[in-house]
Amino acid sequence: MHDYVVVGSGAGGATAAKELTAAGKSVLLLEKGPDVGPGNASKAYAVIKSGVEVWQASCLGGTTTVAMGNVMRSNLSRKLDDCMTEAEEEMDAWTIPPDKLGPATRLLRGASGDWQPMPKAVDLKKCTSCGLCAFGCLQQAKWDACQYVEQAVAGGCKVATNAAVRKVMVEGGRAIGVETVDGRVFRGNGVILAAGAVETPRILFRSGVDSVGKGLFVDTFITVGGVLPKAGQNHELGMAIYIERDGYMLSPHHSSLLLPVLAERGINAEPQDLLGIMVKIEDEPSGVVRQGAVVKESTRRDLELMERGRREATELLLRAGVDEKTVVEVHPRGAHPGGTCSAYIRSPAKPFTDIESLSIADASAIPGPFGKPPMLTVVAIAKRLSSLLLGRA
Ligand SMILES: Cc1cc2nc3c(=O)[nH]c(=O)nc-3n(C[C@H](O)[C@H](O)[C@H](O)COP(=O)(O)OP(=O)(O)OC[C@H]3O[C@@H](n4cnc5c(N)ncnc54)[C@H](O)[C@@H]3O)c2cc1C
Repeated sequence: MHDYVVVGSGAGGATAAKELTAAGKSVLLLEKGPDVGPGNASKAYAVIKSGVEVWQASCLGGTTTVAMGNVMRSNLSRKLDDCMTEAEEEMDAWTIPPDKLGPATRLLRGASGDWQPMPKAVDLKKCTSCGLCAFGCLQQAKWDACQYVEQAVAGGCKVATNAAVRKVMVEGGRAIGVETVDGRVFRGNGVILAAGAVETPRILFRSGVDSVGKGLFVDTFITVGGVLPKAGQNHELGMAIYIERDGYMLSPHHSSLLLPVLAERGINAEPQDLLGIMVKIEDEPSGVVRQGAVVKESTRRDLELMERGRREATELLLRAGVDEKTVVEVHPRGAHPGGTCSAYIRSPAKPFTDIESLSIADASAIPGPFGKPPMLTVVAIAKRLSSLLLGRA
């Protein structure tokens, strides 16, 4: 019997495991995916086909292992502010000085005065500008949740990978543990679900809760890009600056997925000849997670926002020297699924459910889209929950 069973080892689960273990609690962390090790996270991508593709990773450290290291704050609740500050300190978050930006980023920066430095949890002393953040960092230069898992393990937390939880066991209105898909039972005085915004509602469905799964947002993005010979964006730290607009943001982004789109138009380019900008919108929370499917289509407002961003990105690319005839874009994707259990908890700063001793500490607890990278907010939700459980908040 453990004090807490935590389900999922991504941004939320790893944080809760670290915080509770550090306070002397016995914690079991269950992760559905394998431990892929540094630099191998691209093997763990779990992409869900929908109108807007939903991208996540399933491995120790969760989706943080493929994240770009962007750590932007949200203003969901003042009660999360101190937790975000604490997390920024732990992650050594900072902004990259202009003289350390890569050449392609500097080129785009010269095309507008509106760029701002992106807060990054990336150690430039270790970063080799390989441009492979989204494949998992071989140099371990960027923060990911594996660092919190390591700290939790050092403090005595037990971790099981390849342990997919099927349902929460509930007795007399109280969560008493979990059962895995292969029939193993793990008991705990408290259960914390942190399986991400797609899988946490599914665990709840299987546990008899059906009022979850709606309100899915993903911060839909496209990458607009074209050919600029020897731009070299594929070998520099991506998304180091951004422009914030009402409803969307822009950030320099290399995507090799532009190459097949160009090839379809008869344009053969090499990765080093691409210059791209990500357009990420604050999409409407219109998506739904069901047991066997995710439905996420772009709404009319989403399409309008995307069009505004696309136009601005194209203008910047042309100003930076991209050949107009080569400008193409990658299909819409979403890498920030959230919101699907927000109606089921009290608030992101108090993520308790109506089942006693069952709480939620992942992006499903975020009440709605805020159009910014959510990792820091998820970590803050899990920190705040841990403080509440420990009677410290
Ligand atoms: C390519 C990419 C780049 C990104 N870059 C950034 C960035 O720079 N900054 C930022 O803020 N955000 C970024 N994100 C988003 C960010 O990583 C996520 O928002 C964040 O990790 C969500 O945290 P979470 O705890 O909700 O879920 P996750 O981190 O996804 O963790 C959930 C974990 O639960 C596990 N799990 C699922 N089902 C079960 C089950 N049944 N039993 C046990 N375990 C289970 C999963 O395998 C996974 O490990 C990026 C996402 C992608 C895809």
